[in-house]
Amino acid sequence: MVKEMSISESVENLIGKAQNGNDLSRKEIIRLLSVPTEYSPVLFDAADKVRKEQMGDEIFLRGIIEFSNHCERNCLYCGLRKDNSKLSRYRMTEDEIIATAQEIKQSGVPTVVLQSGEDSFYKPDTICLLIERIRKETDLIITLSIGERTLNDYKAFQQAGANRYLLKHETASVELYKYLRPGCNWDDRLQCLRWLKELGFETGTGNMVGLPGQTTEILADDLLVMKNMDADMLGIGPFISHPDTPLAGIDNDDLDLELRVIAAARLITRDTNIPATTALATLHPRGRLQALQAGANVVMPDFTPEIYKTRYDIYPGRRDVGSALEIISKLEKDFYSIGRTINYSVGNRQTKREHVAF
Ligand code: SAM
Ligand code: SF4
Repeated sequence: MVKEMSISESVENLIGKAQNGNDLSRKEIIRLLSVPTEYSPVLFDAADKVRKEQMGDEIFLRGIIEFSNHCERNCLYCGLRKDNSKLSRYRMTEDEIIATAQEIKQSGVPTVVLQSGEDSFYKPDTICLLIERIRKETDLIITLSIGERTLNDYKAFQQAGANRYLLKHETASVELYKYLRPGCNWDDRLQCLRWLKELGFETGTGNMVGLPGQTTEILADDLLVMKNMDADMLGIGPFISHPDTPLAGIDNDDLDLELRVIAAARLITRDTNIPATTALATLHPRGRLQALQAGANVVMPDFTPEIYKTRYDIYPGRRDVGSALEIISKLEKDFYSIGRTINYSVGNRQTKREHVAF
């Protein structure tokens, strides 16, 4: 007679299968995301081991500059949406952006992420000049996170010296995407991601966890999108409700689910760069550190000057206050408390793979 497996045996087998690098079916990913809560620590521990084996123990930093909070889109979840008339809008001057990039350089962080709403005030030439100045005056590695653009724009950004691009697919459900991003099209988003990959950008995608209408099946599909497009970076963050948006008052405090998605992403994609996001630090004071112990290996401190930072109001309660040096020194202490240190090199996934290949 075949002995039936206990729940604990079946969960441990599944986590072990993922930890050993075996491909998981959609059904198995759904099961992984749904394991009883008492098994969450086993899942996080497996992801932590794979993170250590694939990416090492050091944490990579990317410094963010949020240079404009103008946006022409109307995403239901985001405080920067066009119809939020309460928001005081700003655009940093080119010199302010360069000065902030220099501060990032001086603090030892090797890469900058330039992020904004979808703001057509910035013609491709303007962005290219900015990229060229940052390259020339700071030599920082540049990631752009400025939304959907044309193939020619992406080509121009690359020729000007941008190396990486972050464009989250936000949700793998076409219906949910259409509802949450009025006037936008999921296929267009995916096309942009394909162009970026084909051009050779280190490409980041990702999702929000805890969106209204989201199911475990949709989260499993998010993970499959990340794996199938061979993304280099994965921005997985909790949805946090903003009071001045149509999704006001929709609570999301499920830190455990957020950590499970990060852990599953590490087990499924192996050697990707996964940030412990600012949104996680906002959801829970120790959220970022817990993510770093459940598969994440990157932190993206926000270096936007204080006068603008509070106005980049995607969702309420964002952290990371103080000067660049103060922020870094606080992070160093936090990382030390979990036995980890900062790696001040660029942490390039493609270069790492080339090294491995040779
Ligand atoms: N406009 C660009 C875009 O949408 O790709 C880049 C800036 S946008 C503010 C950066 C990210 O913020 C989005 O990819 C989205 O996942 C996240 N975001 C927006 N509103 C959010 C919210 N209420 N909670 C959590 N994340 C949010
Ligand atoms: Fe604009 Fe991006 Fe916010 Fe959507 S998520 S409203 S595109 S800034």
